Amino acid sequence: MTTLHTDLFIDGTWSPAASGARFAVENPATGVQIATVANGDAHDAQRAIDTAAATQPSWAATAPRFRSEILYRAHRLILDRADDLARIMTTEMGKPLAEAAGEVAYAAEFFRWFAEEAVRIGGDHTTTGDGASRILVTKEPVGPCVLITPWNFPLAMGTRKIGPAVAAGCTMVFKPAELTPLTALALADILAEAGLPPGVLNIVTTDTPGPVVSTWMDSGLARKISFTGSTEVGKLLLRQAAENVMRSSMELGGNAPFIVCADADITGAVDGLMVAKMRNMGEACTAANRVFVHRSVIDEFGAALTERMSALVVGDGSTQGTQVGPLVEAKARDKVQQLVTDAVAGGATVLCGGATPDGPGYFYPPTVLTGVRPDAALMHTEIFGPVAPLIPFDDEDEMVTLANDTPWGLVGYLYTRDIDRALRLSAAIEVGMVGLNTGLVSNPAAPFGGVKQSGLGREGGRVGIEEFLETKYLSIPR
Ligand code: ADP
Repeated sequence: MTTLHTDLFIDGTWSPAASGARFAVENPATGVQIATVANGDAHDAQRAIDTAAATQPSWAATAPRFRSEILYRAHRLILDRADDLARIMTTEMGKPLAEAAGEVAYAAEFFRWFAEEAVRIGGDHTTTGDGASRILVTKEPVGPCVLITPWNFPLAMGTRKIGPAVAAGCTMVFKPAELTPLTALALADILAEAGLPPGVLNIVTTDTPGPVVSTWMDSGLARKISFTGSTEVGKLLLRQAAENVMRSSMELGGNAPFIVCADADITGAVDGLMVAKMRNMGEACTAANRVFVHRSVIDEFGAALTERMSALVVGDGSTQGTQVGPLVEAKARDKVQQLVTDAVAGGATVLCGGATPDGPGYFYPPTVLTGVRPDAALMHTEIFGPVAPLIPFDDEDEMVTLANDTPWGLVGYLYTRDIDRALRLSAAIEVGMVGLNTGLVSNPAAPFGGVKQSGLGREGGRVGIEEFLETKYLSIPR
């Protein structure tokens, strides 16, 4: 049975914040408080990073198989407790239970993937060109890592960072998002039960992230930061990382184009957009943000999409049958409404949705817009809500220019049955990931990440563990 933990987790022990302060966590479907959680400050943060630094040498010295087995056990425990974890996530951030269950499976898989990677950390052995020396290349853990996660995938964003850090032999200080601390604390409990030694993972929850994270960044003890969140905060952390020249992995915002060519399978493209747009109520950095549809098929596509979007059941995610939960907080819901109002003022037409319902809860209806002008704010902002703006295109080059007219470059989706066009457009769009005739790219076996201001580095896949490893080379005369 899952115990609901609400305190800090430092050195394998649960404890309140030194100040005794707590902050409230609420259910976005009802606006009702569900728990209070320890509100850590710089003092608690210092204790956490001191612990991580003190634990680093002994943890780095453990056998890869030992670390791998911990991850295998944690993978199994997550699946055994899937219902409890899904319910915690739904209650603190709103996603429907069925989606939360999907996230549990996805999150657990990062642990299995990195359990397999832990025992495959390689190296290299070669000789210098003149044959005079041997070159022995080894991989070592980077050292204590700062992990910061957002609220939209509370479990998976945790396992995606903790998995490779454990596999590589790094200790961690972890600050989950203030809106969703309960899932992260439940995960810590599972890792402890799976045999993670005290001090390897240290969690400080807080509703005032600045002082906690600055303490870690300025400590001189942390060697790496892995952050998922907004580009704005990512830039702030990169500036802080520069002071101590810390390794940095950044998964930042996106502004994904979803491109439907004239030759696309329209039914398949609508199916794909329902996933790419509506997964997590649109609250994902991978969410389709701008839907470019060839003018010859836009009416057919728009009609089919509107039918699907208006049929979705909106409600409390914990109620059976709900397909669309609330947005995470009032501020997020109001931002989405503002973007829609602005687009409509600029000439867009609402095909469905478009108006905030009465409370309680922060619900927003699935919305389809046509006639959106390229200069509308929602073309240049992450919508982070269930709104699909359709933009017609005639000319491929012009569409690519529009698709790339953004500082972000995380993912693009492309629907076409023509292999030449698929390869040409995949190369032309400036993104780190392309979904070709699919609306889902996230997978623990794949390198997740973006170009431009969407970030630095990749999570998952073969390269995922590399982000947590340092290369050391030994020169040995022959
Ligand atoms: P979002 O808009 O999705 O909430 P944020 O970038 O604000 O994205 O939040 C992502 C994570 O960054 C959260 O864990 C949040 O607490 C943290 N965060 C926010 N502000 C700061 C800051 N000044 N320093 C460090 N972390 C921060």
